[in-house]
Formats: sequence, C-alpha cells, structure tokens
Amino acid sequence: MAKTKKPKTKKPKTKKPKTKKPVLNRISRLGMIPKEFKNHYRRAWNHRGGKDAIYAFCLECMKFDKIKIKLCKNTACPLYEYKMDALPKICQK
Ligand code: SF4
Repeated sequence: MAKTKKPKTKKPKTKKPKTKKPVLNRISRLGMIPKEFKNHYRRAWNHRGGKDAIYAFCLECMKFDKIKIKLCKNTACPLYEYKMDALPKICQK
C-alpha cells in the first residue's frame, strides 16, 4: 500500500503582540529629577541651554552626583571634552 504524502500546510503566522515601552513625557520625567537640577532640564528642553543639556546628560550618567561628573575620566565619551565647560561655575572650582 502506497503511502500518501500529506500536503504541507503552512502554519498561520501569529503576530507577536507589540510591547510598548512607557513613554516618559517631560512632566513625569521632571518628577524623577532632584529639585536642584530641574532648571537645567527646563533650559535644555526650551533650546536655551546647550551646556545645560550636556550637564543634564552627565547628571543622569553619574546618577545625579555632581562630584562624580567632575572626577569622570571617561575620555571615550563623546561629551568628555565638553563636560567641564558645561559644569556650573560652582562645580568648576
Ligand atoms: S563625560 Fe563622563 S559623566 Fe559625562 S556623560 Fe560622559 S561618561 Fe558620563
């Protein structure tokens, strides 16, 4: 008795459910930032402070520790050369 081949049936493709990452808007993000640094973020968001944007990025990199930013020796970081100019005058001393 000859075996009959079953026709190959394609499994229906199931779409993976897209997982949406939570989008942090500026207001909720400001809630996570320590009070003393909020103005740097506001100035950066309002296109009034390129230095503030760099400083804000460094703050997040060093988990809001100002002293660690000053001591940072990561010369591979693209912001390293601009970091000292971006620090507020009080931190530069
Ligand atoms: S310069 Fe240093 S502190 Fe600033 S983002 Fe780069 S690694 Fe972080």
